[in-house]
Amino acid sequence: MALIVQKFGGSSVGTIDRIRNVARRIHETAREGNQVVAVVSAMSGVTDKLIGLARELSETPCERELDVLMATGEQQSIALLCMALHELGEKAMSFTGAQAGITTFGSHTRGRIHSIDPTLMNKYLQEGNILICAGFQGVTEEGMVQTLGRGGSDLSAIAIAAALKADVCQIFTDVDGVYTCDPRVVKDAKKIQTLSYDEMLEMASNGSKVMQSRSVEFAKKFGVVFEVRNSMNNNPGTIVQEETPSMEAVVIRGISIDRNQARVTITGIPDQIGYTAQILGALAEAEINLDMILANTAHDGYVRQSFTMPSNELGRAQAALKPVMAALGSTVKVETEAGLAKLSLVGIGMRSHSGVGATAFKALADANIKTGMISTSEIKIAVMVDESDIEEAARVVHRRSTWEPDFSVFINSFFRAGSRPREPAFSCGKKSSPFPEEECHPPVSCQFPNEGRASLSACCCGRNGRHRNTGE
Ligand code: ADP
Ligand code: ASP
Ligand code: MG
Repeated sequence: MALIVQKFGGSSVGTIDRIRNVARRIHETAREGNQVVAVVSAMSGVTDKLIGLARELSETPCERELDVLMATGEQQSIALLCMALHELGEKAMSFTGAQAGITTFGSHTRGRIHSIDPTLMNKYLQEGNILICAGFQGVTEEGMVQTLGRGGSDLSAIAIAAALKADVCQIFTDVDGVYTCDPRVVKDAKKIQTLSYDEMLEMASNGSKVMQSRSVEFAKKFGVVFEVRNSMNNNPGTIVQEETPSMEAVVIRGISIDRNQARVTITGIPDQIGYTAQILGALAEAEINLDMILANTAHDGYVRQSFTMPSNELGRAQAALKPVMAALGSTVKVETEAGLAKLSLVGIGMRSHSGVGATAFKALADANIKTGMISTSEIKIAVMVDESDIEEAARVVHRRSTWEPDFSVFINSFFRAGSRPREPAFSCGKKSSPFPEEECHPPVSCQFPNEGRASLSACCCGRNGRHRNTGE
């Protein structure tokens, strides 16, 4: 008997008919003899609507209360999905984040998973229930409701798959998998068969919102192989897993688009030690997510520094910079520019191939697209363009790129046969177990310190075996 974790995003549960469709899928999976834990998002548009209501009352609503409000969206869908499953004759139970044993820490609206105690989930699974868990939410040690950042149901699903040592983790969405670019922008984008965690992570953190980037980081840390696929059909999806040597043969795996970017440029900074620490310190204190950073010394001896960030953080950045600017002297000036977007080319093959940037920039120049700040990593080249040019930029670069041949379908079928987490997938966090070895199963909670930044070790029983209550 396999344990399968299935996550259904907002569009997959966006209407009552779609909820019925999801219930049918889960029902079929259960009838094939599997245990099923489904993680669901709020119905599409609901989270945005709740945030809109809060903003009608306050421009800066209290984040603790926002969490309490937003978490209700997922609670609606878990209850409705259970009711649909009951109509199909299934035993199904809804679980909030707290009932699923998810403990979080960190700031409200951006909570991080500290640990998952799967005791209750295992108890009801063993009793033959299908579990329907609310994504996007957990509770702090004090019992305060916390959400996990937008798109956070992906993270809930991956973490639950790790904690339960699921055999398969499937992320169902409204497209057939991860594509070489957003298929809504580039019509001839191709579905990617297999990609590495690092590639998925770069794509996700550079705007490919098909997966929440923190969930990919988590999957990589805990070795959760997952498949992104469509909830409306049975087409095979995209497998995301550890890198394999053959993956380097493909130079560009995907192109990502990140809209709503802004740039801040500070000029006239006296060239003295410590100014960058002052500027970046103030922005870090205000929890501004900087992306590209560029500094150079002008002919007049003053330093010019530019950085980019999501445009909704621009106001907070300006406020945070005011006191620093005053301290740096009267020559300092701040200019801002919104309306930018970032195009990123991602692929682990870039490590061993050159010329990717040259081809992309030639394509952009031929299309008369002005380019701005550039940043690179081992597996990414990113460039800022005007937001009005981003879709055309993606299309022209996509057209000039060479994409993976379809032979990877063989690799894919091999992995689909058993997409289980790497062993050990987590550390139970207890030094010794009160249970005999063969019973060393979930009464202990799975610790995810800093969402996985701690080193992984064997379970409390000292072996790297399975820790699920299946008797295996
Ligand atoms: P869900 O509600 O299931 O969580 P999301 O809306 O968060 O779904 O993510 C799915 C969407 O991600 C797709 O509809 C697609 O427009 C967008 N997307 C962006 N980049 C990509 C990509 N490279 N591949 C697939 N989808 C992408
Ligand atoms: N409902 C939340 C959001 O819209 C979480 C999710 O959908 O993953 O961000
Ligand atoms: Mg999503």
